[in-house]
Parts: sequence; structure tokens; C-alpha cells
Amino acid sequence: MSAMEELEKIAIRHAQEAVVLDREGKKESAILAYQKAIECLLRIIQTYPNHDLNRIYAQRADIYRTRIRVLQDVWVSGSSKQTNANYEGLTATQTSEQSTFDELILKNPPDVKWTDIAGLEDAKKAIQQAIVYPALRPDLFPLGWPKGILLFGPPGCGKTLLAAAVANEIKATFITVDAASIMSKWLGEAERNVARLFNTARKASLKAPAIIFIDELDSLMGIHRLEVSGETRVRNQFLKEMDGIIDKKNPIHVYVIGSTNKPWTLDTPFIRRFQKRIYVPPPGFKERLEMFKLYTGYLKMSTDVDLEKLASLTDGFSGSDIMDVCQSVQLKVNSELFESGKAETGGDPRKIHMQDFLEILGKRKPSFSKDSLVAFENWFENFKAL
Ligand code: ATP
Repeated sequence: MSAMEELEKIAIRHAQEAVVLDREGKKESAILAYQKAIECLLRIIQTYPNHDLNRIYAQRADIYRTRIRVLQDVWVSGSSKQTNANYEGLTATQTSEQSTFDELILKNPPDVKWTDIAGLEDAKKAIQQAIVYPALRPDLFPLGWPKGILLFGPPGCGKTLLAAAVANEIKATFITVDAASIMSKWLGEAERNVARLFNTARKASLKAPAIIFIDELDSLMGIHRLEVSGETRVRNQFLKEMDGIIDKKNPIHVYVIGSTNKPWTLDTPFIRRFQKRIYVPPPGFKERLEMFKLYTGYLKMSTDVDLEKLASLTDGFSGSDIMDVCQSVQLKVNSELFESGKAETGGDPRKIHMQDFLEILGKRKPSFSKDSLVAFENWFENFKAL
């Protein structure tokens, strides 16, 4: 167990203890336990600033602080009216659990158009056929249409972009959630979160098509460190919800797009619910060139920059890597401007040269090798016609 997992476990223990003490009316001890939970949560946030659950932890810490204030008030005055705040406080915690969940599921897709996505023509076409056509003319699909779509492939190659672009095209409500958050004990029972997710989508679909985008879908399958028990229940709940959506007699416009970098960790019942499985491969030479054109289009470039050369030097880079390279070059010339003191007086950065790109590239390694991609191709071969 890592140091962070250890801290998470301690925080959960203190929080659970605090709630029990609180319910029993042992206010003094409850306050102490809430304080310990807050300390652990803040330590996690400070020590691991990029941890994906930090938002939840910060909200939890706030809820416990509020609860402490309520308890301290009761404790000092001890009036019966304020003692009732105990129950109100607990209800507030539960309500805030629901709103924390709602906050986590973003409902406006990022502003991405198909033309913002370089390459991936096969994936774009498959998504058009599976989602856009049925959404536009459901009357042409008496046999139903695929509602579960699995996007798989190496990280940073456009899975999220594709989901956002299709949501924009059909003006769908975009409900996005990462599976790790669903599984988080901090949001309550993971099983209930799965039900909430689908309920939200069903309700939203009365007005417009709804797309549930689940990042890191594989986390729903596996044992998560914060799930104390019941992984099977979560999995079964998910399968049950998927069946409700997939049902051919149900003309509902809810689509579930699952994204994963580890498709091989999904089991067969899970995979079967995603009737459409789409490989989102890393960019080839042509796509990398397209991306360099796309991103350098925003920058002031010198004529010596050879984009074709850059595309051939970046074999094994993901779309996200190429974006990072272009951003780093931008940062380089802007930093020079700021350090020269000319930024404050309205000066412009100098043009970007090939040498700037070469310097940045000299410090980076490709994200994947040809060998590391074989696993995706093999998996696709086995499961494309399941
Ligand atoms: P992960 O599996 O890690 O969630 P992902 O496959 O969902 O990654 P995205 O989030 O879609 O990857 O891409 C990350 C960033 O990389 C995008 O915001 C974009 O800047 C860039 N990018 C990736 N693929 C492309 C592409 N095909 N065209 C243009 N930009 C791309």
C-alpha cells in the first residue's frame, strides 16, 4: 500500500468514526475525529496536488468543518433547538453528497468540433454511424442502434475529443465522469452512484440526447482502493443499467461512451454491452503533421520551421505529447519576452525557430513503442466481432 493509500485509509477511518460518534451524540469526540479526518484530507491534497480525487477531498473537508461549527455551537449552549441541528446536519451531509455528485458530472461538452481532431477518420466515421445517424433519424432504425460505444487505445490520442465532438454535433447533454470518482467511498455507495448516473441521463434524455462519457471505464471492473466491499454489486448494477439502455424496445436516446487504455482488463459480459468497439490509435506521420499544422497555426512561426521534419521526429508521440511540445515552445519564447522586461510594455515574443522545437524535442521521449501497441491490436482482433 502506498503512503497516499495509507493516508486515505486513515482519513476514511476517522470520518466514519466521527459520523458514528456524532449520531450517538458524543459531540466532543466527534469533533476531534472530524478534525483528524480534515487533517488527513488536507495532507493528501498538499502532498499529492495532482491526485484525481482532490476535489472530492476538499469538499469533504468543508462539510466536516461546517459540521464541527454546528456541533461546537450545540456543545456550548446545549439548547434543545440546537441539538436538533444534529439531524439537520446529517441530512445536509447527505444532500451535499448528491450535489457533490452532480457537480462532478459536467453537463456542457468541451467546445470541440470534428475539424479540431486530426486524423482518426475511421473512428470518426464509426461514431457518426453509431450515434449521429440514429440521433438524427431514429425512424430509420426500427431494429434499434448501438447505445454502448467503447473507445480504446493508448492515452492522449483523442478518445475524449471524439466523445466531446459527437456530443456537440447532436447537441447532447454531456455527462462525464471518471470511473474512479464513481467508485470513491467519499461519494457514498458506488453502486448508488452508478444508478444516479443513469437516472440523470434518463431524465436529461427527455429533452435532448444524453451521452454518458465514462473515462477509465476499467476502474469500474477492478478492485478500487476506496471500495471497502461490493465490487461485484457495482459491476452488476452497471450491467443492469446498460441492459435497460440497450433494450431494443426502448427508443431512449442515452448513449454510453466508455474510454479505456486497458481494454484487456474488461470481462466478456462487460464488453458485450458495448456493441461498438472503436480503436483510437496513436497518430501516424500524416496525423502528426496535421496536428503540428493545427497547433502551430496559433503561433508566430519563422519560415525555417519544417513541420514535416517535426512530424517524422515525433514517431511514438501521442496527440497530447505533440500539443505539449507546441505549448512548451510557446512558453519558451514568452518566458524570454517576460525576462527581457518587454512584456509589460506591450512587446511581442520573437518568432519561433526550428531550433526551439529541436531543443524541446531533445528533452522528450516517445510515449509508446510499436511493441506496446501490439496488445491493443491483438485485443481488437479478438473482440471486434464478439
Ligand atoms: P486518456 O486516455 O488519457 O484519457 P484521451 O485518448 O482521451 O486520453 P484526449 O483527452 O482526447 O486523449 O487528448 C488529450 C489532448 O491531446 C487533447 O486535448 C488534444 O490537445 C491532444 N490530442 C490528442 N489527440 C488529438 C488529435 N487526434 N487531434 C488533435 N489533438 C489531439
